[in-house]
Amino acid sequence: MKVWQCSICKYIHKGENPPEKCPVCGADASKFVEINKAPMPEKPIKKETPAVKSGIDRPEKKEVPGPAPAIKETGFEKIKSLLLKHHAHPISVHSPNGILPVVVLLWLMAWVFDSDLFPRVAFINMIFVVVSLPFVIFTGVLEWKKKYNAALTIIFKLKIMAATLTIISCTISLIWYLIDPQIISSPKAWVFILVNIIMLIAVGIAGHIGGKLVFKD
Ligand SMILES: [Zn+2]
Repeated sequence: MKVWQCSICKYIHKGENPPEKCPVCGADASKFVEINKAPMPEKPIKKETPAVKSGIDRPEKKEVPGPAPAIKETGFEKIKSLLLKHHAHPISVHSPNGILPVVVLLWLMAWVFDSDLFPRVAFINMIFVVVSLPFVIFTGVLEWKKKYNAALTIIFKLKIMAATLTIISCTISLIWYLIDPQIISSPKAWVFILVNIIMLIAVGIAGHIGGKLVFKD
């Protein structure tokens, strides 16, 4: 079986022919490059390392064209390139992805145990998430534009919807708690919990798609 790689977004496709359209960035078949006729290596072979064993017929890995080199990067553009190069989005996204499940668990515990402590801890954790969100969104949009040509394929439509739902439900919870700090002890607590569960599902979907894009499987 042949292995093809999208030269735009690095999506890997296995099959006799490249796909008609890249399911990630929407590029057409002509943008696909056959990368290896043998089974995929775990890690890409560094081209500057000479093969230790010579004389063995091993298909050479073809060069996959990378992004065009930027001309004279200054100021803000330079910062954006550095953020992309050092994976600022997958790193910063650990804040909402890691903290929000704990927040929801704390709200559930506050609801079940009717404690004063849990709502306060949940609220403080939520503040950390809300503070990190502008950076997470900024780096996410940057990555989407630069690495995927701002493609509006199904995968990105879903990701944008999930991220938007996360932001909306997180903001609603935070403001709701600020207006009514006793919400979790009130009869409307179930609605509040529902908003939080929606937030948890949305952040899970956004994270799952992000993982698929990063690990390419
Ligand atoms: Zn692609």
